[in-house]
Amino acid sequence: MNLEEKQQRLAQFAQAHRENGLPVTMQRRAVFESVLEREDHPSADEVYAAVRAELPEISRMTVYRILGNLVALGLLNKICHPGSVARFDPKIYQHHHLVCLDCGGIIDLEEERLNKVAWPDVRRFGFEIADYHIHFRGRCAACRQAAKKSRKPPTKRKQTS
Ligand SMILES: [Zn+2]
Ligand SMILES: [Zn+2]
Repeated sequence: MNLEEKQQRLAQFAQAHRENGLPVTMQRRAVFESVLEREDHPSADEVYAAVRAELPEISRMTVYRILGNLVALGLLNKICHPGSVARFDPKIYQHHHLVCLDCGGIIDLEEERLNKVAWPDVRRFGFEIADYHIHFRGRCAACRQAAKKSRKPPTKRKQTS
């Protein structure tokens, strides 16, 4: 995220708080900035650990509550993939994810053509689609490398004479 983009997001942050009559506290700002600077889609606990380095007094509950608020205000995205804890994403525009089945790592995938998937007709379910994102599941480079290393070489058969 470049400086200009960051300033724009901080302005958006201030505006959303003003419009909703919420105070911009140091804690809220620290939580928001902590997620804004990351591309690894941290969990709430990871955000808590990062913010606590800066504001040692902050409680886990407060960080969880602020994250919930920031999502409700549309300033952050919450992503939930089955089988893993909720993660937070500073990118609020449509993009997609590569999700590692081994380490749970999430990599952003921005491909214009994936934003153009035709939505199915789901009126028969009485359902109204709001948005979508695609997650491709597999194994990341680091996990593939680790798997390769731990694979035991084939045991040599002893020559018996
Ligand atoms: Zn991995
Ligand atoms: Zn993302």
